[in-house]
Amino acid sequence: MFEPGWNPLVGVSSYPAERYAVLADRIGAILHSRDDILLVQAEAVVALEAVAASLARPGLSALNIVTSPYGGWFGRWLRRSGAEVADVVAEPGLPVEIEAVARALDAAPGVDVLALVHAESASGILNPLPEILALARARGIVTVVDAVASVGGHEVDVDELGIDIAVIGPQKALGGPAGVSALSVSGRAWDLILHDGAPRDSILSLADLKSWVDGGRRSLPGTPAPLEFFALEAALDRIKAEGMENVVARHALAASATQAGLTALGAAAWVPAAKASNLVTAVPVPEALTPDALIAAAGRLGVELTEGVGTAPARLVRLNHTGPRASFQTVLSNVVAYGAALRQAGHPCDIAAAAEAISAVYSR
Ligand SMILES: *Cc1c(COP(=O)(O)O)cnc(C)c1O
Repeated sequence: MFEPGWNPLVGVSSYPAERYAVLADRIGAILHSRDDILLVQAEAVVALEAVAASLARPGLSALNIVTSPYGGWFGRWLRRSGAEVADVVAEPGLPVEIEAVARALDAAPGVDVLALVHAESASGILNPLPEILALARARGIVTVVDAVASVGGHEVDVDELGIDIAVIGPQKALGGPAGVSALSVSGRAWDLILHDGAPRDSILSLADLKSWVDGGRRSLPGTPAPLEFFALEAALDRIKAEGMENVVARHALAASATQAGLTALGAAAWVPAAKASNLVTAVPVPEALTPDALIAAAGRLGVELTEGVGTAPARLVRLNHTGPRASFQTVLSNVVAYGAALRQAGHPCDIAAAAEAISAVYSR
């Protein structure tokens, strides 16, 4: 006779209904946000698409900053729902220039919504977020910030910066699960979203999620996946134990040690520290090598480097120091493996000096 065995991954009880509100409050604290915090039962790309689908309509005008494929998708989702969208596209692998944003805003006086990614894990850049938000606020524009990669790697202060909608996922610098995400929504953003004909009865409807807030924040609609919420809670517990400022500081240290190591190696990072994210550091691939060959050489040392996403013309490879990888061991092995690959291709590299420099940053 078939005996169904007990498996801890499928025999999970429901996530307790009263704890969803606690999760939302804890995420609000991480984001320094007093706005409504919504939980989305899917990875962060779904939360981003829900924002676009809920804001966009014919007659809405948006300025969309594109510094990776994520920004490109956001613009397409806005257009799909009938919005008028002007894209400001940065050079491959570089942050957007604040002057380009200012020019685009001056050229389109009726902009309702401005969207951008804060820090990119795709290319390792950091966009000038406070400056861009200041331009938007001065014009009364509702702002949407994709902070999926940056939360935990950089300070994200929603109230102080005046971000209307911030989207996060726990799966990057917070080191949590990938199947759940969250966003904060300001009153001004709700005013724009909650109009007659706003999408309803849809997984992409923020208006539907507002009903969860207004209804006392008990169980989420449908059958929430309990493993994801238990895992989110565990990730938040770990962040609390480490301290959110310490999580951000650990990423900043990993980024500056990587920069120092690369300089000592004799192969500087692709962008200077002021334009770089704390999540990944992009490095150029010399002419004599292909990105694949460089990645394979590092792989033979057991080190995983990856090609930049959406950065093909700049030929970039990423050294990843996000989440649990924001550590001395990973930073050291990333830089040493990159140096070893360059040396094999005939580029002189001082690997010993790089190791010294990384150790020195971590010993400060
Ligand atoms: C990772 C990431 C996302 C979300 O992608 P997932 O497919 O949910 O992992 C969105 N925006 C940015 C900037 C990211 O780095």
